[in-house]
Amino acid sequence: MTARTHDLAAITALGLLLIVYPIGDINLATALVALVANQIGGITPDIDQPTAPLWHNLPVGRFFGKIVGKSMGGHRFLTHSLLGVALFGGLSRLFLNFIHPLMPHVQINLVWWAFLVGMLSHLIMDTLTKEGVPWLLPIPIRFGFPPLRKLRITTGKSVEKLLFLAILAIDIWYCTANYQHILTIFRRIVAHN
Ligand SMILES: [Zn+2]
Repeated sequence: MTARTHDLAAITALGLLLIVYPIGDINLATALVALVANQIGGITPDIDQPTAPLWHNLPVGRFFGKIVGKSMGGHRFLTHSLLGVALFGGLSRLFLNFIHPLMPHVQINLVWWAFLVGMLSHLIMDTLTKEGVPWLLPIPIRFGFPPLRKLRITTGKSVEKLLFLAILAIDIWYCTANYQHILTIFRRIVAHN
């Protein structure tokens, strides 16, 4: 899937979870940092390919991309598995604990979860593509949905664009259907500051 679809999927997953698991008090700083973490989580698995947007936007990014890609076992390997989610989950938690003194008002637990939701949404979306995802590494089997490879999506092709529009439509419906709930979350954020 393209980075654009992953970005949308990550924030959609976060939004859907907010309805299922209502969070308690959350301040504005946490909400903003959590959104950024969610978007970073949504594209993190693709750091295993030198053509990823992250590497494009960094000076000599392609060079670093190649090194990181190789150390992660190549494209759609470690970073696209539950083992990778656990590894990056641990590393991101350490990083957040480390920078917490710089932003003491941010509720890092929520930020961490937003990152993990972004990462998991990436794996779910890539499962819909022809290449599939090795969810259960070190078991080297790539899982895909639907099971018939022919019916899955080719990255960047028209079906992915249609899927992007479908997710967008779900988001619009979701915001309309849960308007009061979303309003309550916003009020809670404002009241907490
Ligand atoms: Zn991917």
